[in-house]
Amino acid sequence: MVVVTEPGATEKQIEEIIRVLHEHGFDVHRSTGVRQTVLGAIGVQPDFDHRQIQLLPGVAEVIRITDPYKLASRAFQKEGTVVKVGSAEIGGHDVVIMAGPCSVESEKQIFAIAEHVAKSGARVLRGGAFKPRTSPYSFQGLGEEGLKLLRSAADAFGLKVITEVMDRSQIGLVERYSDVLQVGARNMQNFTFLKELGKASKPVMLKRGLSATIEEWLMSAEYILSGGNMQVILCERGIRTFETATRNTMDIGAIPVIKKKSHLPIVADPSHGIGIRDKVIPMARAAVAAGADGLLIEVHNDPDHAKSDGAQSLFPDQFSEMMAEVRIIAQAIGRRVP
Ligand code: PEP
Ligand code: MN
Repeated sequence: MVVVTEPGATEKQIEEIIRVLHEHGFDVHRSTGVRQTVLGAIGVQPDFDHRQIQLLPGVAEVIRITDPYKLASRAFQKEGTVVKVGSAEIGGHDVVIMAGPCSVESEKQIFAIAEHVAKSGARVLRGGAFKPRTSPYSFQGLGEEGLKLLRSAADAFGLKVITEVMDRSQIGLVERYSDVLQVGARNMQNFTFLKELGKASKPVMLKRGLSATIEEWLMSAEYILSGGNMQVILCERGIRTFETATRNTMDIGAIPVIKKKSHLPIVADPSHGIGIRDKVIPMARAAVAAGADGLLIEVHNDPDHAKSDGAQSLFPDQFSEMMAEVRIIAQAIGRRVP
């Protein structure tokens, strides 16, 4: 942490700032400038609140220089983490495509979609069996029946499964059917849940919260990692901003930022990220170009009658078209969409 004093700060005030920093366990390195003094506070004090220094007379600015997350940080691990999902490696050379409906609705629906996305090159089948809906009157998902259908459709076409787990009580059940546990945006800061996922035996894909900063998101990943589960994938799914022309604002910039700050793989979900079907493919292309390790795409065989998120789900043919395009983009940046 660096403390910059106000131009008019008195020697007495500066000494008091140094005394308080020492009291909190920091070593202090002082450099006196012509108008201002800069104090370098050295040491790691996890529970220290920098506002306690900000409030002292004579302080102009307090700047934190180290990240509060440790296990999620690139400084902790130089090489990128590769999460293996069957033979697919998320965070490896290939860009892994995960696709399927928003919700599992019926055997016919999930088998038709699984067959199509597998043929086009997807490696993982998505589909919600437990749905976090804004309204309690909206379709809530098929529950365990949905998990069974998802598993059997994935197995029939050589795919792996990713599906959402909504609370601690569902972890065991979802682990039985799914290869990756998806944590929804609305649960990103459910800390007791994240701690429990730290003990799970399956990889966890942590979606970014609707209004979470990148630092908050990485701190949430830290909860899972510090619980002992190092198989964490991040997923950018759009954030809420002042813009109303799209459902969310897809933060493509988060992809290179995460790549620099963290060793964890990052997947992009342009379906929720932009929320309108005709703009999903351009955002998918942009995400791959920006360095995403995978894509999570909503696809439906009959989106006009989908029980959830039909308006942002691609038609099967559009999904194939997207695959052809992202293959070219991946190749252009030295990666591959198998
Ligand atoms: C989903 O993937 O269908 C979903 C509900 O996502 P999110 O948590 O990002 O809204
Ligand atoms: Mn959805």
